[in-house]
Amino acid sequence: MSVEAAPVRAQQAEHPTSDLYQSAVRQFDTAAEILELEDGLRQILSHCQRELTVHFPVEMDDGSVQVLTGYRVQHNSNPGPTKGGIRYHPMVNLSEVKALAMWMTWKCAVMGLPYGGAKGGISVNPKVLSQNELQNLTRRYTTEIQEFIGPNRDIPAPDVNTNPQVMAWLLDTYSMNIGYTEPAVVTGKPLALGGSPGRTEATGYGCIYVAEEAANVAGFSFEGARVAVQGFGNVGSIAASFAVERGATVIAVSNVQGGLYDPKGLDVAAVIEHCAKHRSLVTFPGAEVITNEELLELECDILIPAALENQITKGNASRIKARMIVEGANGPTTPDADMILHDRGIIVIPDILANAGGVTVSYFEWVQGRQRYAWTLDEVNSRLRTIMQESFGKVYERSQRYDVDMRTGALCLAVDRVAEITRLRGIYP
Ligand code: NAD
Repeated sequence: MSVEAAPVRAQQAEHPTSDLYQSAVRQFDTAAEILELEDGLRQILSHCQRELTVHFPVEMDDGSVQVLTGYRVQHNSNPGPTKGGIRYHPMVNLSEVKALAMWMTWKCAVMGLPYGGAKGGISVNPKVLSQNELQNLTRRYTTEIQEFIGPNRDIPAPDVNTNPQVMAWLLDTYSMNIGYTEPAVVTGKPLALGGSPGRTEATGYGCIYVAEEAANVAGFSFEGARVAVQGFGNVGSIAASFAVERGATVIAVSNVQGGLYDPKGLDVAAVIEHCAKHRSLVTFPGAEVITNEELLELECDILIPAALENQITKGNASRIKARMIVEGANGPTTPDADMILHDRGIIVIPDILANAGGVTVSYFEWVQGRQRYAWTLDEVNSRLRTIMQESFGKVYERSQRYDVDMRTGALCLAVDRVAEITRLRGIYP
C-alpha cells in the first residue's frame, strides 16, 4: 500500500458554486420579507441545523490511498426526518451542499411531505474510478455518516453521478453496521431491494406535469411546444422522452460534451439509444452540433435546464429566448438572472416545484419500505401526477396573492409551512 497525491479529488481552485448558499439565503430573505417573518424565525431558518464534514481514506485498485472529503448537511428537522440526495462530483463543497439542503427543506414543504431537507456529497471525480473503487468509497462514506442517517433521522437518495447501485451499497453498509436489513434508510434503491416502481422516471415526469400546467396558465398548449433540454442524464433524458410522449417537439438536448439541435424535432429515443451504445451524444447523426451556451439561448417555448447549478446568470439571462424555464436541475438560475427574466416576462417554474417529483416518489418509496408493502406503477404515477398538479396550483395561488414570480410564490408557501411547524414546536429546552 502506498500513499500518494490524489488525482481523483477536486482541485481546490475557485469554482462557480462557491456562493451558492448565499444565493439560497437571498431567496429565503425575499420570502421572509413578504411573509413578515419574525426575526428569531428568520435566524433559525436561514441556518443549517447540522453540517458534517468527513475526510476518509479509500484504497484504490493500484494499492494507493486517496483521502477524500465528504459532507452531509441537515438544514432543518422540524417537519420530520431529513431527506436529500448524495452527489459525487469534483466541485462538491460545503456551500453547495448547504444550499442544496436548504432547498430540500423548501421542496418538501412545497409538496407537503413530512420531511426536512438534507444533502450530501463527496468531492470526487467518479468517472475515473472503477466499480470496485466506487463501492469502497461509498461504503466508507456511509460508515462515516452512519450516526447521522437512518429511516427516522435522515434518508439519502441518488443525485448527480449516484444511482440505484450506489444506494444498494449504502443500504448494505448501513444494514451491516446495525446488524439487520433496513430498506427505508435510503430511497432510489433497485426494485429488487425495495425500490419503488416509477422512482427512476419521477423527476423527469414531474417536470413535464408542471410544464403542462404552466403552459396552460401562460396561454399556450404543451402539445406542439418546442422544448430544449440541457443535461441528458436521469432528469434530462427522461424529461425529454416524456415531453415527446405528451406531444411536444424536443428541438435540442445536451450533455457535458455539447448539444444537438434539430428545429424539426429530435428522435429522443434514438438519441438515448445512441448514447447508451456509443457513450457519446454529439456523434448522433443528422442533427446540428451546438454548445451548451447556444442551447440555453435557442428560440423555443420551454427550456429545461437539467444539468447543474448557475447555468442561467446575469451574463446570459438577457439573451434567453424561451417563453418559459422549467428548472429540472437544482439552482440553475441565479438570483440576478431571475430578476432579468422576470422583467422580460419569462416565466420560471422553480426547482423546488419543478423537480420535486423525485423526492415525492422517494417519499412513496419510504412509505412502502416502512409498510413492507409495494404499490403498483399506476398507483405511483397517478399519485405523483395529482400531487404535482395540486402543488403547482398552490404555488400559482401564492404568486398571484403576493403578485410575485413563481419562485417567490413557492418559497412563500414553503417558508410559511416550516415557520408554522417551528412556532408550534417551540424552542427546546
Ligand atoms: P445525472 O448525473 O444523471 O445527469 C447530469 C447530466 O448533466 C449529464 O448528462 C451530464 O453530462 C450533464 N452535465 C454535467 N455537467 C454539465 C455541464 N457543465 N453542461 C451541460 N451538461 C452537463 O444527474 P441527474 O440526476 O439527472 O441530476 C441533474 C440535476 O437535477 C441536478 O441538478 C440534480 O440535483 C437535479 N435533480 C435530480 C433529481 C433526481 O431524481 N435524479 C431530483 C431532483 C433534482
